[in-house]
Amino acid sequence: METSAKILDGKFLANTIKEQLKEEVIRLKKSLGQVPYLVNIMIGSDHSSLSYANSQKKAAEHIGIHYELTTLPLETSQSALIDYIKRLNSDPQVNGIMLHKPVPPQIDYWLAANYVEPLKDLEGINVANIGKMILRKTNIIPCTPAAVMAHIQSTGVPLRGKEAVVVGHSEIVGKPLSLLLLDQYLTVTICHIATSEAGKLVEHVRRADVLVVAVGKANLIQGDWIKKGAVVIDVGINQVGNQIQGDVEFESARKRAAFITPVPGGVGPVTVVMLMKNGIEAFKAQILKG
Ligand code: NAD
Repeated sequence: METSAKILDGKFLANTIKEQLKEEVIRLKKSLGQVPYLVNIMIGSDHSSLSYANSQKKAAEHIGIHYELTTLPLETSQSALIDYIKRLNSDPQVNGIMLHKPVPPQIDYWLAANYVEPLKDLEGINVANIGKMILRKTNIIPCTPAAVMAHIQSTGVPLRGKEAVVVGHSEIVGKPLSLLLLDQYLTVTICHIATSEAGKLVEHVRRADVLVVAVGKANLIQGDWIKKGAVVIDVGINQVGNQIQGDVEFESARKRAAFITPVPGGVGPVTVVMLMKNGIEAFKAQILKG
C-alpha cells in the first residue's frame, strides 16, 4: 500500500507559536509596562522586500509587538548606514534591530549588520550571537534555522542518535542549523556543492532520518533518494515559471517521507514568527541587563 507523508503546515505552526508569543507579551506588558520595540532598516524599497516587511509587521501587530520599518534611500552610504545603526543602538526605546536583505552594492552587509548591538540583534546573525550560540549562551537564534527546528520538533519524532543531513552550508541557514541539530544529539552531515561535484549527494541523502535542504535549486533532491519514514524540511525557494517550488521533488518525496514541509507554506511562515520570538528574547535580555 502506498503511504503519504504528513504535511507540516507552516501556517498552522506559525499561528500556534504566535499565540504563545502573544501570551508572553501580555505577561511582559503587565509586569514591565512595556512591549518590545523592533526596527527593520531597509535600503531602497523593492516590491518583494516590502511585502516581506509587511508580513513581519502583521505578525508583530498580532503578537502585540511594536514594529517599525525605516526605509533609507537606495544611495545610502556604508558610513551613513553605520551611523544610523549606532543611533538605534543607543536609543533605549529600541529593543531589536535588523538590516533587511538585499542591500545595494555599496553596502557590505555583514560589516554593517555587525554594528548592531548584540543584545539588539534581531536576526541572531551578529558574530557575538553566533559565538554565544556555539556555547549555548543565547536565546537569540538565526530565524530560518530556528523555524526548521520548530518544524522538526513539532513532529514529536525522537531525535537523539538519528542521522541528520543538511544540504547547503550557508552562514544564515546550513551552518547554524547544523549546530542546533548537534545540540539535540543528532549525528550531523553537512553537504554542499562539492558533495554534488564528487557525486556523493545521493548516498548521504539516502541515510537521512532528518533531511534539511537549503540550496535554491528546484528538484535537486529526487523523491526516490528519501529514506522511508524520514522527516524532510525543504527550505529552498525557487521561482519556476509562475510558481514557487522548493529544492525537493515534493510529490515523489511525500510517498517515502513520514513528514514533509510544502513550499510555499512550510518553513517561510515560521521564519517570520521566529524573528518576533528573537525580538522578545532581545527585550528580556536587555531588561535583565538593566
Ligand atoms: P546560499 O546561496 O548562501 O547557499 C547555497 C548552498 O547550497 C551552499 O552551501 C552551496 O554549496 C549549496 N549548493 C549549491 N548547489 C548545490 C548542489 N548542486 N548540490 C549541493 N549543494 C549545493 O543559500 P541560502 O541563503 O542558505 O539559501 C538557500 C535557499 O533557501 C534559497 O532558495 C533561499 O531562497 C532559501 N531560503 C529560505 C528561507 C525561508 O525562510 N524559507 C530563508 C533563507 C533562505
